[in-house]
Amino acid sequence: MNIPQTNFQRVVIIGGGFAGINLAKTLANKTIQVVLLDQHNYHTFQPLLYQVSSSGLEPDSIAYPLRKIIKKHKTSFFRLTEVQEIIPDKKEIITDIGILKYDYLVLATGTKTNFFGNEEIKNNSMPMKSVPQALNIRSLILQNFEKAAVADSIEEREAYLNFVIVGAGPTGVELAGAIAELKNYVLPRDYRDLNPSDMNIHLLEGASRVLPPMSEHASLKAEKFLKDLGVQVHCNTFVKTYDGTNVTTNSGSVMQSETLIWAAGVTGAPVKGLKAEALIEKANRYNVDQYNQVKGYDSIFAIGDIALMETEAFPKGHPQVAQPAIQQGKLLGENLLRLTQKKPLKPFVYNDKGSMATIGRNKAVVDLKHYKFGGFFAWFIWMFVHLMSLVGFRNRVVVLFNWTYNYVNFDKAARLIIRPFKK
Ligand SMILES: Cc1cc2nc3c(=O)[nH]c(=O)nc-3n(C[C@H](O)[C@H](O)[C@H](O)COP(=O)(O)OP(=O)(O)OC[C@H]3O[C@@H](n4cnc5c(N)ncnc54)[C@H](O)[C@@H]3O)c2cc1C
Repeated sequence: MNIPQTNFQRVVIIGGGFAGINLAKTLANKTIQVVLLDQHNYHTFQPLLYQVSSSGLEPDSIAYPLRKIIKKHKTSFFRLTEVQEIIPDKKEIITDIGILKYDYLVLATGTKTNFFGNEEIKNNSMPMKSVPQALNIRSLILQNFEKAAVADSIEEREAYLNFVIVGAGPTGVELAGAIAELKNYVLPRDYRDLNPSDMNIHLLEGASRVLPPMSEHASLKAEKFLKDLGVQVHCNTFVKTYDGTNVTTNSGSVMQSETLIWAAGVTGAPVKGLKAEALIEKANRYNVDQYNQVKGYDSIFAIGDIALMETEAFPKGHPQVAQPAIQQGKLLGENLLRLTQKKPLKPFVYNDKGSMATIGRNKAVVDLKHYKFGGFFAWFIWMFVHLMSLVGFRNRVVVLFNWTYNYVNFDKAARLIIRPFKK
């Protein structure tokens, strides 16, 4: 892999997501060698993927080169590779570009889409976990508008204009709101040959309310915002089958749709090679102690979505969102330095800063510890927090420009089928 041998101990980080980059930044220019590995050469800001899917943002404004993040870190290296296996006895990892030795290994591999074992849904639905997948959704939506414009029958046109989103967590809710804005503001102008009332957006949720991880207050407000935008919300509803056109739900009803977006959940993305006890099988997440050390291993750690730390406050582990990943990445950086200096480690305590979701123009909900609110102010806070959390000054400027342009013009400017999606 062409990584120099030095006197410093080597920390290998698998994954350049929120957890991995915050760890790498904390270890920058310290007396430790850092090797950051990822299967992509960029960091993805996943909270804004839905805006790429719905033509609101170009993908390069939510992705950031990993080499650029570490370019000033003198003791750090990046390699583009997929890690295939860990050999803990030899302190080695096997990748598609060779074998690498580590002193400390940090697993920050995040999650992958969970289809709950349903192969038919996996083969026919659209996941939204990466930039290429978000671009696929963007292309499919726009291709379907084009096909609807020339469809021979009403049934065919309806199938192209029926959009089904499964899962009304923050991702599903935000995407449903954004697609509704396409219907309300873009379709009437760009597609004068289509009737916007023929387009339907169905949001399906297995739980009894939308945004199940948030407060009841947020759920009620979000559902009202969605309905005001014309989204049809179906709670207590599961998809049983989807053959690419027909969606069957648990109630037995069948609707026709050429686009089913799967936002119903994630499961961990572990790397093979560790003992069974290291993994909590149900969640597919590594079993870690309060220092993020993987059970049964002294020199292997896991942080972010892939780590499950059982605490009194979070008996099922921390929520799989950005903040625990960022905070664990930073603390583990400090702890690894402490380890090399033979100092005691600090336990992880999660500082929950609250949660939020936007439903569209001027509409968002925010849950803070002692205060819950929705509407324009919440939307403003949502925008500010997301803008400031983006990696890279350029990305912040580009996103701010696009948001301002889209807001003033009621537009979503990235309506381009650059890479057609083939079902
Ligand atoms: C659509 C969507 C919307 C979201 N919205 C929000 C939100 O609004 N707010 C919020 O707080 N959270 C949100 N989240 C969750 C948040 O993005 C995650 O909690 C966060 O990204 C977790 O960070 P992580 O570093 O653990 O993993 P990730 O950010 O997923 O990073 C994992 C990295 O590991 C790499 N990797 C995985 N396996 C391998 C391998 N074998 N070899 C090499 N590289 C590998 C991946 O390429 C990836 O870069 C959202 C997630 C999604 C998918």
